[in-house]
Amino acid sequence: MKKLLLAFCTLLASTPLLAATPWQSIHQPISGQPQSIGAFANGCIVGAQPLPLEAANYQVMRQDQRRYFGHPDLILFIQRLTTQVGNLGLGEVLIGDMGMAAGGRFSSGHASHQSGLDVDIWLQLPKKRWTAQMLLKPQPLDLVSADGRNVVARHWQPQIDSLIKLAAKDEEVTRIFVNPAIKKQLCADAGADRDWLRKVRPWFGHRAHMHVRLRCPVGSTECEEQASPPAGDGCGAELNSWFEPKKPGSGSPVKREPPPLPPSCQALLDKHLL
Ligand SMILES: [Zn+2]
Repeated sequence: MKKLLLAFCTLLASTPLLAATPWQSIHQPISGQPQSIGAFANGCIVGAQPLPLEAANYQVMRQDQRRYFGHPDLILFIQRLTTQVGNLGLGEVLIGDMGMAAGGRFSSGHASHQSGLDVDIWLQLPKKRWTAQMLLKPQPLDLVSADGRNVVARHWQPQIDSLIKLAAKDEEVTRIFVNPAIKKQLCADAGADRDWLRKVRPWFGHRAHMHVRLRCPVGSTECEEQASPPAGDGCGAELNSWFEPKKPGSGSPVKREPPPLPPSCQALLDKHLL
């Protein structure tokens, strides 16, 4: 369970001013054959690529943070998904955090996004492109009601269903994390075609964005894959358990000490810090 908890994108926004991690001092990708190394929540990446910042089908937020690097598979996925969204005229796609140039741990915001295979995509599809100023200080749209039980009807659009469904149907995608209330809405809206719901996993936070995770790329021999989600659409008892009163001792995941780095990541860091 510990490993599972660490594997998820954990918002630590309430934690003030965490110290920078050594990974943040690496500003350029490590050259070499692309390799995602280690786990999503304890790893790094060689041969990362930047997502092109100028594109017709998406916009990249908070570019000043330089969290727009990933494995080439992740770049291709984003381009594939956003081209589909563009062709359907669903709106503008807003790309949030991917990973840093060499991956690794951020000082705040996430436990995962470390091996170049995770991306946050916001669950709003504006009709007009955002200005540079809006992209630098993006305003999230909270889709979940204050009691956490439902989506906010006036913010929910069928296009959001379509965006999540398109992402979930992508062959390279293994998991998508959204708030339980959002999963509940997807379950209600889906008709007979519901296999894709299996990949959509309820998790804490994620009220304004989905976190998309790809499988380990071919050739990334040191990449640690997660087990597949349980069979079924996940719309029954498992989802309902998120809406039951909390049992003592349960609740949002606690922050834990990071595990030791995979040796290849430690070696990469040691070399950089020499
Ligand atoms: Zn995330």
